Amino acid sequence: MTATLFENASIIDGTGAAPFAGAVLVESDRITAVGPAAEERARALPGARRVDLAGQTLMPGLIDAHCHLSFDDASSNSELFFQRRPGLAAITALYNARKLLRAGVTGILDPDSVFEIMIDVRDAQEAGLIEAPRIASGCYALIPGLGGTAGGLIRDTGITGYYSVVNGRDEIMAEVRRQIKVGADWIKVHVSGVAPRYAHLGEKCSWTLEELQLICEVAHDLGVPVMGHCRGDVAVRRAVLSGMDLLFHATGMQPETVDLLIDRKTPVCPAMTFQANLVDHGPALGTAPALISLFEREITDSADSMRRLHAAGVPLLCGSEAGFSMVPYGHWHHREMEVFVRYFGMSKLEAITCATRNGAFALKMEGRTGVIAAGMKADLLCVRGDPSVDIGVLGHSENIASVWVDGREVDLSPPPARKPLKGWTVPSMGARLPNPGIVDSL
Ligand SMILES: [Zn+2]
Repeated sequence: MTATLFENASIIDGTGAAPFAGAVLVESDRITAVGPAAEERARALPGARRVDLAGQTLMPGLIDAHCHLSFDDASSNSELFFQRRPGLAAITALYNARKLLRAGVTGILDPDSVFEIMIDVRDAQEAGLIEAPRIASGCYALIPGLGGTAGGLIRDTGITGYYSVVNGRDEIMAEVRRQIKVGADWIKVHVSGVAPRYAHLGEKCSWTLEELQLICEVAHDLGVPVMGHCRGDVAVRRAVLSGMDLLFHATGMQPETVDLLIDRKTPVCPAMTFQANLVDHGPALGTAPALISLFEREITDSADSMRRLHAAGVPLLCGSEAGFSMVPYGHWHHREMEVFVRYFGMSKLEAITCATRNGAFALKMEGRTGVIAAGMKADLLCVRGDPSVDIGVLGHSENIASVWVDGREVDLSPPPARKPLKGWTVPSMGARLPNPGIVDSL
């Protein structure tokens, strides 16, 4: 059995407690002792490896509760729906998994994936075939005939990209059961969607309460939780009433819906990093100011609700929505914590708890990882600097000194440089024009 003693560390344990100096002992895949007990126990293990963490912080690895590892930094849904192939999508997911490890991520919830390939990637990780964070995986996202948020790109029936259209009771029940047979850890539902002609109304709840209840009933009977993408008051309300177990976004809530959520204590993963990045970097990318202010409003309009949820003890989880080009893998997995501090008034340690202890729920490992304490899985991150002073230190891979998943140190060397994959992305005709001036003169 391998044993590792982390010495001279400043420890952030993930519970919200202030950092403290000390040692942590890991035996095999678990933390077995913290503080003086760790040093004492290590003395009886003469073969134990010692890791000196002077100047470093030892903390639980980050858990990204909303990460699409199969999307390969897509810049459009068209790419995901029409340009991708299953084998290559899985290979790029493995490539990108290394970027997550280099950012200190030791666990992700991948809500939905192209070709449902994350089920296979998860099994490969669990079997030790590949190095990657722990993965909890959904299959295809369920949507009704209206479609999700990709409008007319989605076929009226069957599979499109990461979506599965289900119409009526029979299709709903069959697809939920099929996904569980395939190995879904979670069932993902797009509770709200948008029809192109009515986009100005924003996302609307696209299921009846009875339909959502049916999804939850079938899944819960088989012991599988349900997570929902919800924007708008009606979507959030129905998702909570249906018994859904985890909500993404949960924007646009009326105060009574916040009350309901507080009553049920349904965990929420706002996943607003995408919007925050657009606010900060959109101007440099030429994004229309109106769109930028729309995205900022989505954050600021939710600030009061999220503050109330947090104050009432509703667990908030951190999710990056990585998988899209606005949130490239490996760079922004810490960013949601900054959003929680900046917009939702959390302390930095509270935000860290959201990305560690609270994230364990997304992995279905509550009380088994996400905290540094005896008995927990050794999913650990050693970082140069102090994230309780500056969360931003987690945003630079050179600060990530070492990462441990299941008690094993992972390879943090950078993945090899890649070249474009032929036919993988939607070509931009505009960027290929030899002389844009020709167009101007037409
Ligand atoms: Zn998503």
